[in-house]
Amino acid sequence: MPETPEELYERVKDSLRMPPVEHWETFPFEGELRPRELRPPVEREAPRQGEGGVDCRRCAASDDEYIWTTERWRLYPLQPSGLPVVVLLETREHYAEPGDLPDELAAELGVLQARIERAIRSIGEIGRVHVCRYGDGGEHLHWWFIARPTRLPQLIGSFVEIWDEILPPLPEEVWRANLDAVVAALGE
Ligand SMILES: [Zn+2]
Repeated sequence: MPETPEELYERVKDSLRMPPVEHWETFPFEGELRPRELRPPVEREAPRQGEGGVDCRRCAASDDEYIWTTERWRLYPLQPSGLPVVVLLETREHYAEPGDLPDELAAELGVLQARIERAIRSIGEIGRVHVCRYGDGGEHLHWWFIARPTRLPQLIGSFVEIWDEILPPLPEEVWRANLDAVVAALGE
């Protein structure tokens, strides 16, 4: 039997720990910190945007919002942020979970993850391209490709998503050139 959220909450709520973040080079903040109080479980999870494909913004988006499209996939660029490039790979059709994908699409996804990661690295001065899937915001299935700059050791690992909002946004022309490089590499 899995632990219920209520059991988990009762077990942990009075014994939250504070990890030694002051020793983590990648931790983006300084100063006195303590864990936020854990709130009790909710009755049910809030619906995600576009649940069941109803009023889904990704389904409604036209191809010109994307930098690259195929019959079954579309690549969406997020607006300029602190990192060189952040793009989302979406299925053209509405699927909710990776496990919902037909085998043919799941197999193609593996090939595309490699192609897109390689294309982003071709920009140059990229230390790593993180490939992630969360799916807690919008339901329409999407994968994150998050490029971090090279040779800035504080930006390694998962805190890079916080650093993305701490570093001021890329100049528009640098950002456009980065996207152009990705699209050019995908066309090869
Ligand atoms: Zn959708």
